[in-house]
Amino acid sequence: MREIIDQLNFFSEIGVTHLNLEKSSFPASLEEIREEIGDCTRCKLCQTRKNIVFGVGNPAADLMFVGEAPGADEDAQGVPFVGRAGQLLTRIIESIGVSRDQVYIANILKCRPPGNRDPEAEEVATCEGFLFQQIQVIAPKVMVALGRYAAQTLLRSETPISRMRGQFFEFAGGLLIPTYHPAYLLRNPSAKRQVWEDMKAVRDKLKELNSSFYGV
Ligand code: SF4
Repeated sequence: MREIIDQLNFFSEIGVTHLNLEKSSFPASLEEIREEIGDCTRCKLCQTRKNIVFGVGNPAADLMFVGEAPGADEDAQGVPFVGRAGQLLTRIIESIGVSRDQVYIANILKCRPPGNRDPEAEEVATCEGFLFQQIQVIAPKVMVALGRYAAQTLLRSETPISRMRGQFFEFAGGLLIPTYHPAYLLRNPSAKRQVWEDMKAVRDKLKELNSSFYGV
């Protein structure tokens, strides 16, 4: 009961107004959450998506990356971060001595907004409960919000990403650090240095928190 109250408090604190929890309010596994999503038609993105992009990686990861929404490559394959930006994300993860398989990667929205437009508030409100359930099940020590939209949406903030990046915020029982989206880095390679600084902070924080990634 205590755990349920804590989770409801967390959802309330971050301003979640409703959750898609038809079958099980507090799923025990990622498989259960995926089953609950089913062939989702809860928002209009179902009309244009090819595949639901649920998330990939280690279900007990100490480190989780959260982006905004799938792009064209992700929509085609049903896997997050597999295009050019995804390949760069893999290298960013490996830069701190961790493999892509060791972390978990997901997006706020599970379906691609057409033309890669920004998600609409109603779409986020309808879908984000699934991400929060994933976070509750995985319980990562550290989350990295990739890009302005993910950071501002998760933290309920309008602060520019340039001011939020590199800082740790308490979030969902762990810590969340915003950094630039890999797609932004492809357009602005000079920002890679700042992402490297952010990733070093992630590595140091994981060590401080006794992450098994570093043999602690
Ligand atoms: S974006 Fe989320 S809520 Fe909308 S159809 Fe896809 S899975 Fe369902």
